[in-house]
Amino acid sequence: MSLPFINFVYVISAALFIFGLKMLSSPATARKGNLLSSLGMLIAIIITLMNAGLDYKWIFLGILIGSGIGAFVAIRVEMTSMPEMVALFNGFGGISSLLLAWTEYHQLAWAEHPHRELSVFISIVTFLSAFIGGVTFSGSMVAFGKLSGKITQKAVVFKGQHIMNAGILGTALVAATIFCITPASALGYVLFALILVVALGFGITSTIPIGGADMPVVISLLNSYSGIAACAAGFVISNNILIVAGALVGASGIILTNIMCKAMNRSLANVLFSGFGSTTAVQAGDGGPQGEVRPASAEDVYYILEAADSVAFVPGYGLAVAQAQHAVKELGDLLEANDTEVSYAIHPVAGRMPGHMNVLLAEANVPYDQLVEMDDINPRMDSVDVCVVIGANDVVNPAALDDESSPIYGMPIIETHRAKTVIVLKRSMNPGFAGIQNALFFAENARMYFGDAKASIQALVAEFKND
Ligand code: NDP
Repeated sequence: MSLPFINFVYVISAALFIFGLKMLSSPATARKGNLLSSLGMLIAIIITLMNAGLDYKWIFLGILIGSGIGAFVAIRVEMTSMPEMVALFNGFGGISSLLLAWTEYHQLAWAEHPHRELSVFISIVTFLSAFIGGVTFSGSMVAFGKLSGKITQKAVVFKGQHIMNAGILGTALVAATIFCITPASALGYVLFALILVVALGFGITSTIPIGGADMPVVISLLNSYSGIAACAAGFVISNNILIVAGALVGASGIILTNIMCKAMNRSLANVLFSGFGSTTAVQAGDGGPQGEVRPASAEDVYYILEAADSVAFVPGYGLAVAQAQHAVKELGDLLEANDTEVSYAIHPVAGRMPGHMNVLLAEANVPYDQLVEMDDINPRMDSVDVCVVIGANDVVNPAALDDESSPIYGMPIIETHRAKTVIVLKRSMNPGFAGIQNALFFAENARMYFGDAKASIQALVAEFKND
């Protein structure tokens, strides 16, 4: 097969990746976007395999085992465990790049008739692919362990940690420099092995100081690393589509990381190095806003909703925990039948992963046109009759706007406190992710409707149906 033809097909694949990525930016087109990008990858794999003239039996075995495990895990995974699964997949991507770089290096340095020269450039990209791939793998395994509760979720911090990490990184860079000067020697191989060990170690030591709740940001960053490692691996084996796909993953991962940090009003350095989550969260009553809360029963809430012209649901992490999305949709339908204008206000970091709320609401078939972004609902919040906050806490905490001492000060929030009435669904007065109390719960216009979100909403549905 001629090279121009292969590259032509690769351009088609790359275009499919890019259009697919673009379509992922809206819930309405995201599924098609996913399919389009997958098609691009399928075409790229087929054309690469057709060109390579390989021993297919091992490849098919690999595809069978990989697809089997992937399908099994994807079918079984709970929506709340999605970040863990993404962590695992990132890790596998990283280890693939490491192994690919190692195999190619071994071939070029030690085969009797290597198919090309082991130049300085190839040595550099081999180092990058192996090192970043190794960091991605072990870092992702730690992220997986933290998210699944298999290892402590707390940020593990100790004195001299940053110096230790800088030392590890420095060791890798020195080893890499000598390796790139003399790759095809016994010393080169020893250094390469050292780089692999250091990479795996650095992935662990740089991820343990980050608290479990910050893991989604780290996973997005590791996703970017896996792309960069794949991009470098593409240079190692001179495969254009791997370079393009890796660069796209690398860039989109870093953009997403940036969006998440901005939405939390934290810098990436703060997420990576501050040890957020190393101390116990401030519990309700340990300071912060206090006062009387006004509890409401299902019946009270029913009367408020029944009389409302407009209702905005504001979902948060508790919606995911309670799996209340179907019940909310049912309540939304009943409200619409009652001539109430219904919308769902989505905060970019509500829940524990980007797009968490969109995915849950889409699963319950909430129409896309009812989803309203934070920046669109806030300007008209004063005219909303009732905001129903479902298991959200930090993303509606007014301290982010007016309390300079608050850890979330400056984070954009959905300003539910400006609605005529706010009903907050949660189980207790416990704080959310940031570990701080919320003045909204004590506000004049707020009513607390305590209980598991799903059971609480089902009780409201029952009230409407009994009416
Ligand atoms: P929060 O973590 O602030 O609050 C969730 C609330 O849900 C809790 O106060 C809890 O209260 C309540 N809850 C838990 N289970 C249930 C249940 N079964 N029924 C009813 N309520 C329940 O969530 P938010 O979505 O408001 O904010 C997300 C936070 O996560 C932000 O601080 C954000 O910065 C952070 N974050 C988000 C990421 C993302 O990508 N989305 C990534 C990393 C961090 P109670 O226990 O009383 O029920």
